[in-house]
Amino acid sequence: MQAKKLNNGAIEGVLNEFLKDEQHLVLGFEKDKNGVSHRIFKKSLDQYSFLNPLFSTNGALFLRRLFAKGMQIVLLLRPCEIRAYVELVKLTQIEREDIIAVSVDCLGTVSTKEKIDEIPTEAGQLDAYMKETDKMRWACKVCREPRGVVGDAGIRIDKNGAFWATSYTEKGEGFLSMIEGNLEEAPKEMLISEKEKLPKFQTNMDDFEKDFSKCIMCMNCRDMCPVCYCIDCVFNGDEYLPKGDALLNKVFRTGSTNMPQGKELFHLIRMYHVSQTCVGCGACEEACPQGIPLTKYFKGTSERLQGMFAYMSGRNFDEAIPYLTFLEDELKDVED
Ligand code: SF4
Ligand code: SF4
Ligand code: SF4
Repeated sequence: MQAKKLNNGAIEGVLNEFLKDEQHLVLGFEKDKNGVSHRIFKKSLDQYSFLNPLFSTNGALFLRRLFAKGMQIVLLLRPCEIRAYVELVKLTQIEREDIIAVSVDCLGTVSTKEKIDEIPTEAGQLDAYMKETDKMRWACKVCREPRGVVGDAGIRIDKNGAFWATSYTEKGEGFLSMIEGNLEEAPKEMLISEKEKLPKFQTNMDDFEKDFSKCIMCMNCRDMCPVCYCIDCVFNGDEYLPKGDALLNKVFRTGSTNMPQGKELFHLIRMYHVSQTCVGCGACEEACPQGIPLTKYFKGTSERLQGMFAYMSGRNFDEAIPYLTFLEDELKDVED
């Protein structure tokens, strides 16, 4: 892999130079006394952190319906966030023209619901922390692609903790050209290696009813899912989830009903909607106040379906989402 080695402070220097333009922004991570969180930087990078070991939301959520012409935005995010961004571009929910998307190797994350005093943000220490503790989120343990190999460019970390920047698209080449130094062959062995065999994921639907019985239908899972983007969600109206008079009319028509209504329908429709674009980030589960293991179901069903089409959400910009294409001869194996 041809890449540029990033000397200490190199990326901060490049981004600070980039941010001198009034129309330029960077979406990345900021370190403060409470931990690390997303931040849109304007003018300068303060307390910038390459890595964010704490997971609260998927950053692509903040980019939905972004059509800001004339601005330039650099994203430096985790692979599952860049993958969700790529899917949203395909779904015409983000205008790609003004964005350079850079994925950074991810050593795994801990839920912000966990009680932890301090967590390292330096690569070697964080790697050791993740190995020594059992704090890593389940979604990260079974992550399909934690490497910075998606988007326009990537930042990889070698075994000595050195950072390497490489490009995957023309935009990525533009990003790389902002960094001083020459391209050289990066070490073959990186801190995060390619998964030889992706874990085969099968969701056992036997527990579905039991797991979702605790659901209070707050819909946080929908609202925090980066690829669940419909403005007019069918579950906002009265048709699927009647309220007030409409609900009582339904009860008079059809008989007594348990509440809240429509849980299974809500989750199955959502599962169907995101089945080809889900990136397995677990943001839905993070947002659930009831501790329902949502990733298990959404990741399980989506990876199985994506596998049938040899598709992987967010892997690259040119791969069409299967449900946006029509092929007369496909899925022969599953024909009746
Ligand atoms: S799901 Fe993968 S990319 Fe996303 S935070 Fe976890 S390890 Fe990182
Ligand atoms: S369904 Fe859950 S795991 Fe899948 S993309 Fe949405 S938030 Fe992430
Ligand atoms: S966030 Fe949890 S409780 Fe709320 S609708 Fe989703 S599964 Fe149900």
